[in-house]
Formats: sequence, structure tokens, C-alpha cells
Amino acid sequence: MKPQSTIIVPSTLVLLLSFQLIAAAADTHESFLQCLSLHSENSTSISKVIYTHYNSSYSSVLELTLQNLRFSTPATPKPLVIITPIHVSHIQAAIKCSQKYGMQIRVRSGGHDYEGLSFRTSYNSPFVIIDMINLSSISIDVENKTAWVQVGATLGQLYYRIAEKSPNLAFPAGSCPSVGTGGHISGGGWGILLRKYGLAADNIIDAHMIDVQGRFLDRKSMGEDLFWAIRGGGGASFGVIVAWKIKLVDVPSTVTVFTVRRPWDQIATKLVHRWQHVAHKLPEDLFIMVFLRSLSSGTEGNRTMEAIFQSLFLGGEAAPLMQRDPDCGGKKTVMKRAGFNQS
Ligand SMILES: Cc1cc2nc3c(=O)[nH]c(=O)nc-3n(C[C@H](O)[C@H](O)[C@H](O)COP(=O)(O)OP(=O)(O)OC[C@H]3O[C@@H](n4cnc5c(N)ncnc54)[C@H](O)[C@@H]3O)c2cc1C
Repeated sequence: MKPQSTIIVPSTLVLLLSFQLIAAAADTHESFLQCLSLHSENSTSISKVIYTHYNSSYSSVLELTLQNLRFSTPATPKPLVIITPIHVSHIQAAIKCSQKYGMQIRVRSGGHDYEGLSFRTSYNSPFVIIDMINLSSISIDVENKTAWVQVGATLGQLYYRIAEKSPNLAFPAGSCPSVGTGGHISGGGWGILLRKYGLAADNIIDAHMIDVQGRFLDRKSMGEDLFWAIRGGGGASFGVIVAWKIKLVDVPSTVTVFTVRRPWDQIATKLVHRWQHVAHKLPEDLFIMVFLRSLSSGTEGNRTMEAIFQSLFLGGEAAPLMQRDPDCGGKKTVMKRAGFNQS
């Protein structure tokens, strides 16, 4: 067997190399920041929305919409720079400079990504977060039943602004108010108006985005293929979405909501079974969904289940409708047969 050769490296040389690496990283970092100023329309304004480890507010900006605390650990890779654009040119500068200096980009709107993909990488490469939090304007056109919403706005903010303008308009999307319109709509987005109006992505009529070459695109200039892809295919696969033009839908000013909770017993089993057969046959104005969840019961650490039925009816009185069975020509009662009337 060939003897292995051993190279002895003096510790001073290791130290010297480490200093050189740190100096090179600092140089790149500095050049990257200069590049951002150079490529944005107003270099003063971009300097106000750049956060690096040297800023005291770096951690609070990073954690502000980091919604999944599993990824808020010291071991989670941290971005070299966070940019919170207030102008489209800031996004364009971030894209151009990241390419030039070999940085990955993460785009964050509401920060609700289940895998934390909007604020971390699974590689060891340096990365930048473009956090859209400052681009959150919403303008509603009641007459034409449309609105422009920038992606930094959350679903809750959008619903609030629509309700301020009209009690008879709504947007069909998810129920969690802090979910961002950027990630939600580009991934599809379902909610309690789904049966009548489809997904959030079905109700998009235009979009503004920046592509990988830094071009500002709208529906016409991006073309129908890309417009189709960003409504369900995940925005970050294609660029940075800046704003959506959405179609508002009609709703009555009075709606009915109710929640029925059942502990997991034979009646609950029957209810869930029955729900699977009738829920999709009910009139479109009535939406009933069911959550099955496990709970700890008692001090023994035992677990049990419960079924939670949540419902929205687009009208004032749901009870007469609930007493008709769509499977039986509307004669027998859905609720009674399945046990909704048992307390
Ligand atoms: C508590 C909770 C409740 C939820 N409720 C519902 C629900 O009722 N209905 C439903 O359909 N879904 C629901 N979801 C799923 C949610 O819609 C998705 O996780 C969605 O992607 C979150 O969007 P975000 O902007 O908040 O997240 P982010 O973490 O900011 O982004 C999610 C993904 O989209 C990308 N992205 C974000 N903004 C942009 C942008 N401007 N341009 C390009 N790419 C972008 C990110 O890079 C990331 O890959 C829920 C999630 C949670 C955690």
C-alpha cells in the first residue's frame, strides 16, 4: 500500500488565508451594495431599504413576517442582505446585482410559506431576500368591480379595503388574514367562496411582474403562457410579482356563518361520511368544509379526534336549505339524518 503523504500547514498561513477570505467576502458585500445604488432609480431611497448584519434592525426586519418559527433558529441560514423595495427599480437592481455577484434570491410577501422558502435556502450559498412588505397599496374600482393590489398587502388588508368601499363586493381567497397576496394567489388560493367563484387565481385579470432579466411586464407584454403560469405555478419560479389586478365578486350584504363541532364518535363518523356525499351537491351559495383534528384528552396524554364543520351561506337564512337533501329530491333532511340536530 502506498504511504499517504502528509502536508503540514503552518497556523500563520491558515490565519492569513482566513483573513483573505473574510476580506474578499467583505469586498463582494461592499461591491454588491454599490451595485444596488447604481442600478436603482434613486440611490438615496434604496439605501434606506437595505438591511445587512451591520443594521440594528436587521433581525427585526427578518423576523417581522417569518411566520414559521421552525425556521427561526440560529442554525437557519440567514440572508446577506434584505431589501424591502419601495420602488420597482429596487427590485430590478436586486435582480441584476444578485446575478452579477452570484447571490440566490428569495422573494417574500406574507412569509407564510410552509417550507420557509421565502426567507431561507437549503444551500450554503449567499442569498438576498426581496421582502415586498412596503409595496402594499390597494386601489378599489367599485364601478368596474376590479382592484389593483400590490403583493405586500395581506388577505386581511385586502378584505378590509373592499368592505370599506362596498358591502356587496368580495374577493374569493383564503381565510387566514396574515397570508400574503403574493404567495397565496401565485399558488392558487382557495377559500370559502370557492364553490361559487373558484380560486383566487381564477379571478386575476392582469398582473405586474419583474422577470429574470429585470424587465417590467404586464399581462400583454408577458404573454398568456406566462400569465397562466404565475396563477398557480408559484410566482418565484418565474420572477417577482409586484401587483395583481383582481376581479371582485358579488356577495349579499348579509351572510350566515356557522361552526358545528362534534367529538369523534359514531355520529361524527356518519356526519363526515354523509358530508362527502352531499357537500358538492348543495347549492353553490352554501359552502361546508370539515376539519378533522386530533386533540389530547385528559392527563394521560391520550389523544382523541374531533370533526369541525365550518360553513358560509351567501344569504340571510341557511336553515331551510339545510333541511333539504340533495340526494333525495330535497325531501329528507341532511342535518337530521346525519345527526346535526343532536346536541
Ligand atoms: C396559517 C396559514 C393559513 C393558510 N390558509 C390558507 C387558505 O385558507 N387557503 C389557501 O389556499 N392557502 C392557505 N395557506 C397557504 C398559503 O396560501 C401559502 O403558504 C402561500 O404561499 C403563502 O403566501 P405568503 O405570501 O404569505 O408567503 P411567502 O412565504 O411570502 O411566499 C410563499 C411562496 O411564494 C413566493 N412568493 C411570495 N411572494 C412572491 C412574489 N411577490 N413574487 C414571486 N413569488 C413570491 C415565495 O418565494 C414562496 O415560495 C395558509 C398557510 C398558513 C401558514
